[in-house]
Amino acid sequence: MPLQCSVLLVSKNDTDGTGDGVTAAGGSNDIVVEWKVNDPVEDTTFLPGPTADIPFKGKTYIEDSLKTTRKDAANDGDDNCPNNNNYGQRKSNGHYFRTGDKLKPYTSEEKKDRVFSKVYVQQSGNSPKDGTTGILFRGSYIAGDNYSLEARIYLEDNDKDNKIKALHEQFFGTPFNEKFIAESGMFTLWRKQHVTAVVNWPDPGRAIRWNDVASQYRLAHCELDPATVEYKITDLLLTDADKQAYLNLVRRHYGYAMADMSFDENGLYPRTIRPQGPTETPGDYEDEIYDTVEGFSDGPNSSRFLDDLSELLFEKVRILRPAGAIVLRPNWCREYIIKDPADPTYSQPYIPAYYCYGGSNGMVLMDNPMTVDEQDGFLFGHEIGHCRFLLHHETDGTGSDNPDEHDTNDHNCIMCYPDGIASRPGLTWNKGDSEEPRLCGKCILKMRGWDNTDNRLPASS
Ligand SMILES: [Zn+2]
Ligand SMILES: [Zn+2]
Repeated sequence: MPLQCSVLLVSKNDTDGTGDGVTAAGGSNDIVVEWKVNDPVEDTTFLPGPTADIPFKGKTYIEDSLKTTRKDAANDGDDNCPNNNNYGQRKSNGHYFRTGDKLKPYTSEEKKDRVFSKVYVQQSGNSPKDGTTGILFRGSYIAGDNYSLEARIYLEDNDKDNKIKALHEQFFGTPFNEKFIAESGMFTLWRKQHVTAVVNWPDPGRAIRWNDVASQYRLAHCELDPATVEYKITDLLLTDADKQAYLNLVRRHYGYAMADMSFDENGLYPRTIRPQGPTETPGDYEDEIYDTVEGFSDGPNSSRFLDDLSELLFEKVRILRPAGAIVLRPNWCREYIIKDPADPTYSQPYIPAYYCYGGSNGMVLMDNPMTVDEQDGFLFGHEIGHCRFLLHHETDGTGSDNPDEHDTNDHNCIMCYPDGIASRPGLTWNKGDSEEPRLCGKCILKMRGWDNTDNRLPASS
């Protein structure tokens, strides 16, 4: 608050007080400032409206949710995440501050939910206008919550202070409480999603379009901090002992004999696949590869195996990069060259594709053959979304898998599979398509930190 006070002492013989006076830095009593938190109206103008290709309903849903859950229906603001929904708002004004002497040299106190701090005069400079005060403010952890702070010079309601107030009002012509007040600008909470490293097993030769992923998350006040380093798997599993640790892990989950396995820097599957038979058609041999590796990629032990694999990789990555998700880009097995016994000129590479996976420790597995066609904004956004606890919406053409978690009227949620949305047959979210998914309103709220299953929220837009 840009407020300064100069105290000038005049001689007691100066009957009308018009003399120059003498500067007296210590001549004023303690000045007390009262603090208040305001919750201004949330600005939703940055959320786009729906278009034919991108029928985004999040703006309507968020605006409706803020209206139905705000603290005081008569007040336009007070629309931060409610206290009884994941502890968004604090119970009362006093709970927003940490009072006492935690912010030395300033001291503050709470009296019946009102918060005060004393203006502290810096001793060092002895400047006559050198008073400052400060307060520790505690907002919520919910992204999108916004605040402004109000500081006001406080005088008590007693004869002495009322006299001072009256003198000020007489001099400035404004009520005391309106004159000595300052409000901060509005600040809004954002969350950050760190992706710390990309691990290639092997490098698929495609850059990730991080901008497309980040622009999805921005709708939820989440700033995506993309990976700035890429590792080859052999950078992490460098020594023979590291590679052996991987093989041990495979043996533990799948029971393969150690003699049948060797570490393959071109894919996760550590066994060899029999060669193509002299009369075997391309289709038959591709099926053979697919079925063989499927027992590994998609067997009953696979998710436990991937959990342990994420531990193994994190152990290596964390030494250099302490926080954030890992994006693992693997082939499930190495590439095989397929021949056609009926056509000597035929020679096609083949890598089977199974699924992508957002797993424990924030490890995201992006199946290399699957990232060829589908939009990065969709596929990476969806899988990293799983690591942020987002669940599936429409995936198999029979409606929502988790209707409590999604806006059930939104058929464009990033947590869908495009071919699983019954109302939009033939839909794809491939690179180059004008159609794109977005987070639905409930996914946005969950990513912001709300409990999106709260039944006070609208079920749909
Ligand atoms: Zn999924
Ligand atoms: Zn959703």
